[in-house]
Amino acid sequence: MAGSQGGEHYDLLITGGTVLDGTGAPGFRADVAIRGDRIVRVSREPLPAGSAARVIDASGKIVAPGFIDLHAHLDPLLRLPGAESLVRQGVTTALGGPDGGSPWPLRSYLDSTQAARLGMNVAFLVGHNTIRERVMEMADRTPTPEELQRMRGMVAQAMGEGAWGLSTGLKYLPGAYSRTDDGGTLARAAADSGGIYTSHLREEGLGLIESVAEAIRIGREARIPVVLTHHKVVGQPMWGASRRTLAMVDSARAAGVDVVADQYPYTATYTGIGVLVPAWAMANGDSAFERRLRTPALRATASCAGSSSTSSTTAAAATCVASSLRAFPGCASWKAKPSTTGRPCADCRPHRPRVPSW
Ligand SMILES: [Zn+2]
Repeated sequence: MAGSQGGEHYDLLITGGTVLDGTGAPGFRADVAIRGDRIVRVSREPLPAGSAARVIDASGKIVAPGFIDLHAHLDPLLRLPGAESLVRQGVTTALGGPDGGSPWPLRSYLDSTQAARLGMNVAFLVGHNTIRERVMEMADRTPTPEELQRMRGMVAQAMGEGAWGLSTGLKYLPGAYSRTDDGGTLARAAADSGGIYTSHLREEGLGLIESVAEAIRIGREARIPVVLTHHKVVGQPMWGASRRTLAMVDSARAAGVDVVADQYPYTATYTGIGVLVPAWAMANGDSAFERRLRTPALRATASCAGSSSTSSTTAAAATCVASSLRAFPGCASWKAKPSTTGRPCADCRPHRPRVPSW
């Protein structure tokens, strides 16, 4: 901070705004003086307009040091290093690598961000899906001890290279094939280096309660701070369930688990169309998926209009599978494999409403 003696000269003066300084303290009216790229003075007394080369009148507005976006999909960052879409919203620091997807290896990626001269500060989580796919591709099974050890080593490596923690996207592939215990093992590797754990939950619709419980369990067992990413309740039958999930968060916190939630600043929800396809149908990748679509057994359980089950495009095939599974009367879970007899799957629970989780 500069001294308060007269004759100071600043490059920029932001006057008359209500300052929210990021500490959680109540806002207060102040003038903010900047020299070069530094805030050099925050004064509750008005500073003379003549003391700065440029003055911005912020009367009636909030003045904040910059927002931190803790869930940013920064994939185009190297193409758009100015990051104007975030900077112009006031975001000065963003945390990338959410939902289980991150750059890999992290060190070389961070080196390129350094060279790209970004318009904001960035940090990254290491993504569970990214790591798992490198070790196990799209296998729908539990990892061998060796595979789990390799994944654990990769999390530790990323943490050493500067990751802030581990993200999972258990609704996405191949994370959907993982078990809570695998996630816990990898979360412990992140916790060992002081990282956090953020999770796009396994389900945000009917399976929401179990999914929140899973994230809290990982936090408790791995002793790692947990963020329920973009927490929400999807699907009308579950509306109101946030009372229960927030109570779960509160009671976990009371029991000593460091768990918090963030949320979209809007009421809609969105994701990729891929979540319409059940995870089992996508196991072992696109060609296996297309092969499944061409099997008579699956076709018999499906009710695709026309013969789109022979479609050669994944997008069309996805639509086909999704619509066919919707046609399962009373089938509670898209995760359940349809029977090969053409009858609804074995674990159908006809009275339970079925809510697609998108
Ligand atoms: Zn997400």
